[in-house]
Amino acid sequence: MYVLISNVGSTSLKFKLYRMPQEEVLCEARVERIGSQDGIYRYKNDMNGQERSLPSVPLGSYVDGISMFLEDMCGAERGVLTSVNEVEAVGFKTVVSKGFNGTVLLTDEVMQGMRDYLFIAPVHNSAYISAIDQFRSILPDTPMIGVFETSFHSTVPLENRLYSLPYEWYEKYGLAKNGYHGASFAYVSQEARRDGDFPRIIGCHLGGSCSICAIKDGKSYDTSFGFSLQTGVPHANRCGDTDPYTVPFLLDQGMSLKEVMEGLEKRGGMLGISGVSNDLREIQEAAEAGNERAQLAINVFVTAIVRYIGAFYAELGGLDKLVFTGGIGENSATVRGMVCERLSHMGVELDREANMRTRGSGYISSPDSPVKVQVIAANEELGIARETYRHLKETGK
Ligand code: ADP
Repeated sequence: MYVLISNVGSTSLKFKLYRMPQEEVLCEARVERIGSQDGIYRYKNDMNGQERSLPSVPLGSYVDGISMFLEDMCGAERGVLTSVNEVEAVGFKTVVSKGFNGTVLLTDEVMQGMRDYLFIAPVHNSAYISAIDQFRSILPDTPMIGVFETSFHSTVPLENRLYSLPYEWYEKYGLAKNGYHGASFAYVSQEARRDGDFPRIIGCHLGGSCSICAIKDGKSYDTSFGFSLQTGVPHANRCGDTDPYTVPFLLDQGMSLKEVMEGLEKRGGMLGISGVSNDLREIQEAAEAGNERAQLAINVFVTAIVRYIGAFYAELGGLDKLVFTGGIGENSATVRGMVCERLSHMGVELDREANMRTRGSGYISSPDSPVKVQVIAANEELGIARETYRHLKETGK
């Protein structure tokens, strides 16, 4: 069975075609800078290694990127399928939809639920809504499946999800933690328990978005992400935890709600504190060159991560394994090292040499460390492919 997985960004698309249940990737593509005359398109046939790279191509909308990929996927030259009809379903890492969770067929009702929650996931939901609509126009007969980022967190007990707000707001509006990064943590949970029974795991997904997740017996037990994606530890350019009274205060100072929201969603996080960049590589370089605000941003980021790990350690009643994943978690020995050095009292013993050398995957704790520390390369697409396949098998669609 062939399942196509698409990861949607606000100006990018990533594709992977899987043969399931073998979990074999047949071809993949990356489309960047959608909406510009200067787009980037890269395709690879993973069966024979053939590639096509277009460094500057007009990409008016998602339709252009989708069409280019489908032509390559089914083309005589670099293709792996003879017809697009061989694709059983397209799976998406959808974010949040009012009234829906888990892995679902993307019906009109589910899409409406995504529109209803545009307010809490403005960047993510708007990108998915328009990409899915455009996929549907090109592939009207292929089922579109959404694997919601909130689904892994459906096991979080209510006492860990609820805010101390009037209870009727929870009943009426569902105001409680949703949690996100579900596809990543579901994958981390499976991979981290491959070589042992680790009942208490804390996962740190650190990338453009960042969150910490307490995993108890393989299930999500708590998460730093809240109702919206503007919560928890600082993100690349979105704020993390903030006092809710900052919003009415800023309105009272004369700012408009639009300006405040723009600050929370686009000018906060690591960019907001450092004033340098939303990319940690550039912030690290600036800090090394003596930029104090860049160093301050890194320190705030590390403290926020340590704070959540401490809280979740207490909630879990101890810790067996700490996991780093995502672009920063996989590549920044600096951040991993700064976090782990502050956790030695919890039994985290870092192998500094292993930490410096590890990129992607591997253990970075010393062999005798009571708490194991593992770097796991994120593979959200495989998590989505597994869920999409399971859904198709169970529903017979
Ligand atoms: P997204 O959440 O958008 O998928 P990624 O998981 O790819 O993003 O993570 C992007 C982040 O990873 C960026 O902040 C980038 O600076 C950081 N990153 C990537 N490589 C390195 C590196 N070698 N050192 C430090 N940070 C890195």
